[in-house]
Amino acid sequence: MIEINQHNIQRAIEKARQTKPLVRVIEFRTYQVTNRTTGAQYTVKFSKVGGKKLAECDCKATKVCYHIASSVALHIVLATQTVNA
Ligand SMILES: [Zn+2]
Repeated sequence: MIEINQHNIQRAIEKARQTKPLVRVIEFRTYQVTNRTTGAQYTVKFSKVGGKKLAECDCKATKVCYHIASSVALHIVLATQTVNA
């Protein structure tokens, strides 16, 4: 799990804007991200521990990747509609 903050999400958002991956909800806090060019699929999971926002992705990146960045906007919307998000 990687902690998301304003600093590390910014670069990933830039890449997400360029690649425009397809994001699908699997269940609350779990998303499937598809690269439209290669068809590669990745699973992104979010959690919240002591006020920290954490995320993980099963791609090989060791920092906040664009898969996380592209899922996070959708997650924020869904989380605000869900109790105990
Ligand atoms: Zn990733």
